[in-house]
Amino acid sequence: MTKRYTFSGGLDFSSELNRSAVSASTAVPAPAVVTVPLSMHHGKPARILVRLGEYVKKGQPIADADGRGSCNVHSSVSGRVSAIDSLPHHSGRLEQSIRIENNGLDSSWDGARLSSDWRECAPDEVAAFARDAGILADDRCGVPLGFFLDAFVSHKAENLFINLCESDPAESARRSLAVARTADMVAGAAIIRKATGAPSCIFCISESDRDLSASVNQILESNTDMYTGFSVATMKNRFPQDIDVLIARAMLKREIRSCSLAENGIAVVGSEACVNLFDAVMKGQAFCERLVSVSGAGIVNPGVYSVRIGTSVAYLLSVCGFRPSDDTVKVAVGGLMRGTALSELDVPVTRETTSIIVLDKSFPAEQEEWCIRCGACSDVCPMRLTPERIAASVRRRDFSSAAEFHPDYCIMCGACAYVCPSRVNLLNYIGFAAHTTASVKKVDYVR
Ligand code: SF4
Ligand code: SF4
Repeated sequence: MTKRYTFSGGLDFSSELNRSAVSASTAVPAPAVVTVPLSMHHGKPARILVRLGEYVKKGQPIADADGRGSCNVHSSVSGRVSAIDSLPHHSGRLEQSIRIENNGLDSSWDGARLSSDWRECAPDEVAAFARDAGILADDRCGVPLGFFLDAFVSHKAENLFINLCESDPAESARRSLAVARTADMVAGAAIIRKATGAPSCIFCISESDRDLSASVNQILESNTDMYTGFSVATMKNRFPQDIDVLIARAMLKREIRSCSLAENGIAVVGSEACVNLFDAVMKGQAFCERLVSVSGAGIVNPGVYSVRIGTSVAYLLSVCGFRPSDDTVKVAVGGLMRGTALSELDVPVTRETTSIIVLDKSFPAEQEEWCIRCGACSDVCPMRLTPERIAASVRRRDFSSAAEFHPDYCIMCGACAYVCPSRVNLLNYIGFAAHTTASVKKVDYVR
């Protein structure tokens, strides 16, 4: 029997996973206008490179990285810059953004450099490719891949894991990309392995994605010279297995906090990073188009869509045949469990928009009641925290007590809040504790 890796705690969504069945993606026609935020990553917003009225091409840098943790930003269409302003963003805030009117020509920028042979690239060159193309190491956390790889220039990675797991019932873009472009994804992983100096590279694939495991194994076996040290590990279907630190804990069977992956010589990247790096190095393409899962109530054509960065959510939903009704209660980006509800739909798809889900009245109401100390939240916590104690300390405004329960170790997976019978808003309490106590979670660029 195949060995299955997993972590303690978490939730079993096996019966829900048909909602996120892997499917071929559908290309969304380029919209008339894109709104590209300057901050789609940790670190400072990128610096504007274009002027109002200027014509730009698809893939052209329109803002460049401003220091560590920042990332280049590119136009996803060809056309005219019509606004540079603070514009609506899915966070609910106004974010400095560049709006471009699509001229419909889709002229591509040809200023990007290419590599004739990635095997000849030094690690810092690979990091430069990633920086230039605006690639993220993991689209759920916004860490720029170039910055991530820089961490392994001076000390090599001991373990490299390629995260192909998805455990949220509303998400399947990552696996769909890996299935559609398996060979490019594996080649991209080889480039990352070279850049990190890792002695091995393990593709972590959910037990339900047997076809993907078979395809990856076939590619590895077809070129054993190039892929020496590469292998596939089967991960148990468990939420939230797709979080990097839980991949590392499951594979290495030791306690690791999210802030200590790099210092423990562990590198975890998503399939998107591998494919995007392959495109950047081999084709000179910037990261300006991504796959987004769209599902939920009133969506006539749910599925995975290939979307230009900066496309409005309202336009994407209209392409998917969204028919809002009186029962529609919210539209969320980022998954069923960890998603953020949108206050308006005219906000752009960004590099971090993995999914969009529409929820109706059948979704549980959020009326908070008193904690009954059932302990269910602690039982499911994958980081072995005691969420109810953090919440109780915050309610008493006893922040030094709250700090003792390490709210800064929380990975905000939402499993505790999901199982709570009293609908205690645990994520709010934990987030508040993490920012208020002495154990404020440091912005962690390399997880
Ligand atoms: S699951 Fe909810 S009710 Fe139960 S202990 Fe945790 S916070 Fe309290
Ligand atoms: S306390 Fe944090 S890590 Fe633990 S279940 Fe809740 S959200 Fe997840």
